[in-house]
Amino acid sequence: MPVERMLETVGKSGIAALAQTRKWLDALRPQESATPRGGETRFVPEPLATVGDETESNDMWGFADTAFEAKPNGDVYLTGSRYELSNQRLPTLLPWVQGVMSVTIDPLDIRTWPAPTGYPAPIANAAFQSEIATFLAGDQWSLDGAARLRHGHGHTQEEMYAIKFAKLGRIPDLVVWPTEEQQVIQLVEAAKAHNVVLIPYGGGTNVTDALRCPENETRTIVSVDMRRMNKILWIDPVNRMAFIQAGAVGRHIITSLARYGWTMGHEPDSVEFSTMGGWVATHASGMKKNRYGNIEDIVLDVHVVTAQGKIERSSVGPRESVGIDPRLWLFGSEGTLGIITGAVVKLFPLPEVQNYGSILFPTFEQGVAFMYELAHAGNWPASVRLMDNLQFQFGQALKPASEGWHVQKSKIEKIFVTQIKGFDPTQMVACTLVFEGAKEDVAAQEARVYGIAAKHNGMKAGAENGSRGYQLTYSIAYIRDFVMKHWVLAESFETSVPWSQVIPLCEGVKKRVWDEHQKRGLPGTPFITCRVTQIYETGVCVYFYFAFHYKGVENPTAVYHELENVARDEILAQGGSLSHHHGVGKLRQEYLPKIMSDAGLSWRVQAKKALDPTDIFGCHNQEAAPAAAPIAVPIVTPAPAKRARATSKAGGAA
Ligand SMILES: Cc1cc2nc3c(=O)[nH]c(=O)nc-3n(C[C@H](O)[C@H](O)[C@H](O)COP(=O)(O)OP(=O)(O)OC[C@H]3O[C@@H](n4cnc5c(N)ncnc54)[C@H](O)[C@@H]3O)c2cc1C
Repeated sequence: MPVERMLETVGKSGIAALAQTRKWLDALRPQESATPRGGETRFVPEPLATVGDETESNDMWGFADTAFEAKPNGDVYLTGSRYELSNQRLPTLLPWVQGVMSVTIDPLDIRTWPAPTGYPAPIANAAFQSEIATFLAGDQWSLDGAARLRHGHGHTQEEMYAIKFAKLGRIPDLVVWPTEEQQVIQLVEAAKAHNVVLIPYGGGTNVTDALRCPENETRTIVSVDMRRMNKILWIDPVNRMAFIQAGAVGRHIITSLARYGWTMGHEPDSVEFSTMGGWVATHASGMKKNRYGNIEDIVLDVHVVTAQGKIERSSVGPRESVGIDPRLWLFGSEGTLGIITGAVVKLFPLPEVQNYGSILFPTFEQGVAFMYELAHAGNWPASVRLMDNLQFQFGQALKPASEGWHVQKSKIEKIFVTQIKGFDPTQMVACTLVFEGAKEDVAAQEARVYGIAAKHNGMKAGAENGSRGYQLTYSIAYIRDFVMKHWVLAESFETSVPWSQVIPLCEGVKKRVWDEHQKRGLPGTPFITCRVTQIYETGVCVYFYFAFHYKGVENPTAVYHELENVARDEILAQGGSLSHHHGVGKLRQEYLPKIMSDAGLSWRVQAKKALDPTDIFGCHNQEAAPAAAPIAVPIVTPAPAKRARATSKAGGAA
């Protein structure tokens, strides 16, 4: 969802107007710009802002009113009206995908799934239930099967496939929704007293199987959904901090802070649904980390309830040296050490200017060379992303049908790029940019970026293409469930890698996946593409997107997992990390011994045992040896496709 859309509550004028308003207010209060001299600096903001219908889908990504759908003639639409792409006719998407994957995708050949029934009976713990009933209201806990199922998974392809076409296996026995920290403390005490497992739940957006229940757990498993603890408890504009409860969802945090002229600057691609606590627990990274930092740079303090009691501090310094700091252990803890109840974060004024940009490069190598030089030139844009050729083409295939003058315009642009500038459409790549800050800083950044780009044969491709690239981020997240219905399994995985290995890693992973796909005789050709999403002085974060056509393939989700592991082996062999920001969960835990010494692994095990001796936080993430059995996916050859008529809620003619 575009940030501007999220800002509807504060008016259409968006970020620039808010920044301007804040400036006028500042000018009217000159005493506030003087050095502060003590006194109360905090205020309690209005409750978090919600906009319209926020119902989320239970078995697909995102809002319930939004999904890609194919019309019988092959045109694709995104239903609803939330995104720029919503309700637009996408005539080239399916033909392009078919060409790239060398398969036929019949828009009427839809793999449907039944609504889930017959949820596993919950393992009851009567003593625990009667204790929590003394401090939770009736609407703060549920044994409902659908709620329990939704709380038993995140968004890995394995999980999303299993809930549709197979079986998830063990799911939580009970879901609870605490509304205040004291209730979390009581829940942990009750869990200790009655030997119950607690699994904290944020937005359920993780892609590591982190929320999946250990298959062999015989104790009652309780999913602690934090989303009713969603307040900003205070904002301190003088010292530029805010205290945000763990269950606050990203989109609400953005709109609520923006009302007062602030941002915390953390915008992962999942920002619409992921939560403050989830970001800390997974060690997340946002697309604008160049300007605002990764989550560990933004968070100053974390409140957490552990099996040993509550961890909190008496003050929040801008930076401290206080010996071994338990707060730092929470980053990447993935629910294993306690329940995060809130975090103090840095605040930044809303930028005076937000400009988008885009650059075309003749080849991926030239794009990477540009990024390398930029990384060492300083004063980076808030975000800079480089798509390889396939992903660039994918972006083009997602362009709505154009009419009138736009048809001519895009023809002329194509001729200019390919015939006059001589860019090869099968090699060229695109870089998208977001610049944020004071007007003069942004102007300086733009001059530097485009100057460096020119040295690498880069060609400015305009703000519109840049903006479109970032808006697509949110709608593209809906594609995986769409293609799954059309017999294509797709997933992304990421890594970080030093500069010298960027090209070898990207090429190596693509080749390995391609070879393994061919070796297994899978249908058509694989879809494997990458983009560089974050830059550092020392290297980058690379995202891969991999998809294959699975019609007639036995146990396709396990095949996907195998191929992803092959890719991961290659990533590690090329000097890449296990993950830049998605984390470990259960999906990648078997790799821990490959990246960490025995002593390192032992530290983790010993620490967990000492801090949580009865394993109350027993989600069993990050265990070097898998504790949970793989998701139970029966070996079946998919039934012959039903020729279902594609239905669409989207307007527009088929
Ligand atoms: C489409 C898509 C885009 C994504 N883009 C990004 C991205 O750009 N950057 C990025 O970093 N990640 C991204 N992710 C991954 C995911 O969104 C992040 O890992 C996110 O931080 C998870 O937050 P959540 O609130 O959804 O946590 P959940 O999925 O609910 O939980 C994740 C883990 O954190 C634990 N946890 C959650 N809340 C708490 C708490 N209060 N206390 C203790 N433990 C807790 C859970 O037990 C679990 O182990 C993306 C995922 C998807 C599907």
